[in-house]
Amino acid sequence: MIRSRLAPTPSGYLHAGNAINFAITAALTCAAHGSLGLRIDDLDAQRVRPEYIEDIFDTLSWLGITYDTGPQNTSEAARMSQGHRVQRYIRLIEALIEKGKVYACTCSRREVEERTGNMVYDGHCRNAGHAITAETILRFALPERPIEVHDIVRGMLRIDLQTAAGDPVIRRRDGLPAYHIASLADDLDQQMNLIVRGEDLLPSTATQLVIADALGETGRAFIAAHFLHHGLATAEDGRKLSKSQGDSPLRARRLAGESPRDLYRQAAALLQIPAAENLAELSEAVLPVVMPLLN
Ligand SMILES: [Zn+2]
Repeated sequence: MIRSRLAPTPSGYLHAGNAINFAITAALTCAAHGSLGLRIDDLDAQRVRPEYIEDIFDTLSWLGITYDTGPQNTSEAARMSQGHRVQRYIRLIEALIEKGKVYACTCSRREVEERTGNMVYDGHCRNAGHAITAETILRFALPERPIEVHDIVRGMLRIDLQTAAGDPVIRRRDGLPAYHIASLADDLDQQMNLIVRGEDLLPSTATQLVIADALGETGRAFIAAHFLHHGLATAEDGRKLSKSQGDSPLRARRLAGESPRDLYRQAAALLQIPAAENLAELSEAVLPVVMPLLN
């Protein structure tokens, strides 16, 4: 059975791009008669605000999306918070340390920027042999080769992570596991086998595939999962939508009584499939996309 999830980060009000991702994920899962879960990626608790969590539930209800697992309201969201799973994430990091895939990095952001002129980490500490302590950042040593990601629509893609971001942080300076670790651990534990993301997250998928590979048998289910990376909704000036840039018109549109029809239209357009105006129509239109997964 296909199992997929919606995994928003409650660090701001959702924008149209988040809603389109929800619509596409829900439609694919529905077309596959699969199971859909909601997982709120709230590990970075400093940025989380209760109204952002509420906004996730309100947006899903506005879109007409129901789901099988995960929190249905704010009190359940608190009970299912990733904050309760930190020990699990730390165990995953410890497994990577044991396998010799991780090293301590003592560079500050400024040092990285001064050396490289950007924030792409240059592997400076990779062979420095710094002791791993509670205060050191941990990074995962990426392979030199590009990473292959098989996308169910786009086919085989090769992602050069070295030039995209360099060795990723897997434990932050404040000791918290990084996004890649929490997301991968949850996808493994929840046995997700269809992961739908915007194309801006292709490097994240590639990174998590490499980490899953390093875990050996434990990570195998993630490597076997299906991935789809859809195009991104853009702002009117063609810019990528982002919470940090204050692109949060969705809540205002919802409160003004607008129908989600336009978002479903955009979702269908991004997938280059026949027009759809609601979840039922989009689910019908994506059937050819999911058919190959059902055999
Ligand atoms: Zn370093």
